[in-house]
Amino acid sequence: METAFHFDITKKSLHSKARRGRFHTPHGVIETPAFVTVGTNASVKALSSEDVLEAGSQVVLANAYHLLLGGRTEVVEKAGGLHTFMNWQGPMMTDSGGFQVFSLGFGKDHKVGRNTTLFPGEGSSSEMRARDVYTPSDIKILEEGVIFRLLSGERMSLTPEKSIAIQERLGADIIFAFDECTSPLSGYDYQKEAMGRTHRWAERSRNAHTRKDQALFGIIQGGEWQDLREESVKAISALDFSGFGMGGYFGKTKEKMYELLNFVTERLPEQKPRHHLGIGRPEDIPKLIDAGIDMFDCAAPTREARNGTLYVSNGTISIGNGEFREDFKPTEEGCGCVACSNFTRAYLHHLIRGKELLYYRLASIHNLYFVNNLVREIRERI
Ligand SMILES: [Zn+2]
Repeated sequence: METAFHFDITKKSLHSKARRGRFHTPHGVIETPAFVTVGTNASVKALSSEDVLEAGSQVVLANAYHLLLGGRTEVVEKAGGLHTFMNWQGPMMTDSGGFQVFSLGFGKDHKVGRNTTLFPGEGSSSEMRARDVYTPSDIKILEEGVIFRLLSGERMSLTPEKSIAIQERLGADIIFAFDECTSPLSGYDYQKEAMGRTHRWAERSRNAHTRKDQALFGIIQGGEWQDLREESVKAISALDFSGFGMGGYFGKTKEKMYELLNFVTERLPEQKPRHHLGIGRPEDIPKLIDAGIDMFDCAAPTREARNGTLYVSNGTISIGNGEFREDFKPTEEGCGCVACSNFTRAYLHHLIRGKELLYYRLASIHNLYFVNNLVREIRERI
């Protein structure tokens, strides 16, 4: 592992594979297990860095693909890197663009998110699709890399070498190897073929990586098949990455998904941190942690907040519903977030009905605080 990084496992659960740890990065320590806040386009939607910090977030994940479009990488680099550009002084991650290989390719053509058809609202590419700036089938996957066709008709290629170069210029603390995130609807043969490519791209990513102040994580693929996942664990473990990313689709039901995830984590080297890409709604969090996952990112808490779904201890509420019109309680009794400390459900209801911009900020702060706090409580019990 790069010298600037080390991962100490401080406690292990007696009842599950859960572990508590401290992952040291050049921008501070991540107490694990940790929820990773999604700030795809160098922005956690509707929130300032102070809001994100106050909501208890430790790490922010941006996306190399989005920050490559329109020459943004150069601007971020000139600004002094992502931390300075967006004024987030804590640890950061960047996703390699591998998820876009799926979300802009098969994900669009099959009209599914990584998990969305089965589990609405998570790991979803719907934010990107909703923006409607791409036309379907505009992606070509080759051994060398991926060619995206933008709406302008312009072509843009992304290769392992290019993804790493961009991520080095963006300057996050933790970066990911370029992979092919596959569709849940792809069959065994395609998953196997794509996984082989992901392994070759992982090696090329590793060879292209030069910055010692960045930890490079390799991504394990293989879809819902145990033998492929096993093969992927072996191939990626052999490449001496600083940590592991769990990528792609793990199974048709949550039960199957966690069974396979446990199968994978049992086979991973224990001393390296594990990140699960694109999952982390409240009901998933205890299961991810029990499976021995140390970090996980998810856009759902902030996206659902913007859509009017707020997290409470016994599930969710739709704050736009009439029943909250004169509900003068906070969103969640006892919640320490800025929204709950200062405003009532009735006020949030009023704001969302009026499409007031303040709604998006307060709602996002609450859901983010809720998941961060949930993870912190579980962490402290390990
Ligand atoms: Zn709250």
